Amino acid sequence: MSDLIKAHLDHRRLWRKFDYCYPVISRRSRGLSLGVNLNPDKICNFDCVYCEVDRLTPPRRKDLDLDQLERELAVLLDVADSGEIYEVPPFDSAQPEQRRLNDIAFSGDGEPTTAREFPEVVARIARLKDQRGLDEVKLVLITDSSRLEAPEVVKGLETLMAHQGEIWAKLDAGTEGYYQSICRSQVPFQRILDNLLATARRWPIVLQTLFLDWRGQGPSESELEAYCDRVEHLRNQGGLLQAIQLYTVARPTPEPEARPLRRLELDAVAACLRSRLADLPVEVYYGPEEWA
Ligand code: SF4
Repeated sequence: MSDLIKAHLDHRRLWRKFDYCYPVISRRSRGLSLGVNLNPDKICNFDCVYCEVDRLTPPRRKDLDLDQLERELAVLLDVADSGEIYEVPPFDSAQPEQRRLNDIAFSGDGEPTTAREFPEVVARIARLKDQRGLDEVKLVLITDSSRLEAPEVVKGLETLMAHQGEIWAKLDAGTEGYYQSICRSQVPFQRILDNLLATARRWPIVLQTLFLDWRGQGPSESELEAYCDRVEHLRNQGGLLQAIQLYTVARPTPEPEARPLRRLELDAVAACLRSRLADLPVEVYYGPEEWA
C-alpha cells in the first residue's frame, strides 16, 4: 500500500512524513495555514542571520515532484475540511477562532520564487482551490523580494493574485549596509527596492519586516529612519502597501547572536514606524513570552 493511500486511511499521522506540504497554526494568518515548501533542498539565495531552517541536517530529498505535492496538499485540505486535524497535537490546542483554514502559503526552507516550477505550482494549487470551491482561502506568497520581477515569477503572481492572492514581501533594512549584515545575500539591496516598487505598483503588497537584536544591538535610530524613507518612497512612487507585519525572532536560530527584541523594544520600533507612516497599519508580532 502506498504512503498516500495510507494517508487517506490515517490522515492524522501521515502529514508528518510529507515532503512538501505541512500545516501550521500561524499567528500572522490568525488560523490554519497550509505551507507549501518549494525548496526541499534547503537552498536559499539569502542567508538571514535569524533563519530558523536547520541546514546542518541534510535534506530528505532535493527534487520537486509536483504530482506528489498536489496529493499531499489534497490530503491536508481533506483533514482541515473534516476537522480531523484539530483532534491531534499541536492543533488540538488551537483556539476556536483559529480553527479555520486561512490560507495556502508558499514558504518553506528557501525562497519559493527561485523554484523554476513556481508558476506551474501556483497554477495547480489555484486549480485545486477552484475545484473545491475554496474561494475564502487565500494564496499567500512569503518572499524575500529578490525575484519578484523575473518574468516567470510575474506569471505565477498573476495566477496567484487572481485567486485571492497576497504577497508578503520581505524588507528588513533601510540601508545597503544593514541589509548586507542581516540578510547576507548576493542580491543588491537596490534590486529588492526596485522589485518591491514594480510589484506594489501593480498589486497591493504586505511588507514583512523582522528587526532583531544582532550581536547585542537592535536597529539604530538612523536605520529605522532610513527604513521609513524607503517605505515612504515606495508609496510616493505609486506603490500600494496594505500593511507592515513587524516581527522579531520567534524561535531558536542556529546563530546564537540573533536574539529577539524585547516587547518594549519592539513597541518602540512600532511607535517610530507609526509616527512616520501615519496611515499605514503596523501589525506587531512579539517574540517568545519568556523574552518579554
Ligand atoms: S529568506 Fe527565509 S529561508 Fe531564506 S535565509 Fe532568509 S529567513 Fe531563511
